[in-house]
Amino acid sequence: MEGDEEKLLHSVALQNANSIFLARQRADQELVRTKEALEAKTQALVQSLERAEALARERDRALVEADKARRAAQAASEAKGHFLSMISHELRTPLGAIGGYVDLLEEGIHGALSDGQREYVERIQHNQKHILALVDELLDLAKIESGQFVLHLETVPLQPVLESVHTMIEPQMQASQLRFEIRSDDPTLRFHADGKRVEQIVLNLLSNAVKFTPAGGSVTITAAPTADKVSLHVQDTGVGIPHGKLEAVFEPFVQVESSQPPQIRAARGTGLGLAISRELARVMGGELTVESERGKGSRFTLSLPRAN
Ligand code: ADP
Repeated sequence: MEGDEEKLLHSVALQNANSIFLARQRADQELVRTKEALEAKTQALVQSLERAEALARERDRALVEADKARRAAQAASEAKGHFLSMISHELRTPLGAIGGYVDLLEEGIHGALSDGQREYVERIQHNQKHILALVDELLDLAKIESGQFVLHLETVPLQPVLESVHTMIEPQMQASQLRFEIRSDDPTLRFHADGKRVEQIVLNLLSNAVKFTPAGGSVTITAAPTADKVSLHVQDTGVGIPHGKLEAVFEPFVQVESSQPPQIRAARGTGLGLAISRELARVMGGELTVESERGKGSRFTLSLPRAN
């Protein structure tokens, strides 16, 4: 009897030892799996850290490069501004002298001019004025681009600006046989801008409209207010601008070569007017854009902040 009990106890002990062994084996396996998972996670973490470090190094390099590029651009812009204003001043003085002497010749200070001489004197005057305008515009552009342009921002009522440009441009409109109309329903509209510069931009747009619209066409200015801006649309029925050149016309010296009638080709300007006008609009917190279709006309839009 005692022997049976002993056997039973022995067998229970054996079973216990077995299940303990199995449990231990499972625990060991679990431990190995956990260790492996931990190692994999550690490795992934190390890799992410390495990637983050590489990215940080790349970002630092990019920052250094960007800083170098910014300094180079700033130095180039300062050098360009300095060069342009020096050249402009060097050119303005002799050009003024040429203009003065030609005016004296025209007045007949050294005797009356023959018809041939008068014609040449007029050509010299015309070219002298053209170069002077070019030099002045170059100077303006250089000043705006180098941030040295002084603006007088104030509340500018729209109505007097429109009346002033109307008076100035009307003779050219009539001489070119164009219909000119101003549509502005709200006489209380006001810009927050530099009044003289607004006039300069609108006049530039209008004189372009005159140059590029054949006789019989029309030019219209429309005022369109939004909550925070006032837009002026200058629309003509002229030769238009090819689609691919719509942005290029705002670049300095770009003049679109197209099959224009000779009177338009002859009336060419400096190619700086729109570049200056867009820069001016932007420094006043606005924008100058264009929509156009070849042969159907152009619509330039000047948007400027609206005064409260
Ligand atoms: P400019 O008039 O002195 O040539 P701008 O910078 O004012 O210089 O204009 C650049 C070019 O844009 C013009 O030469 C012309 O080709 C084109 N352009 C400007 N305004 C018009 C317009 N209203 N219609 C057609 N083309 C235009």
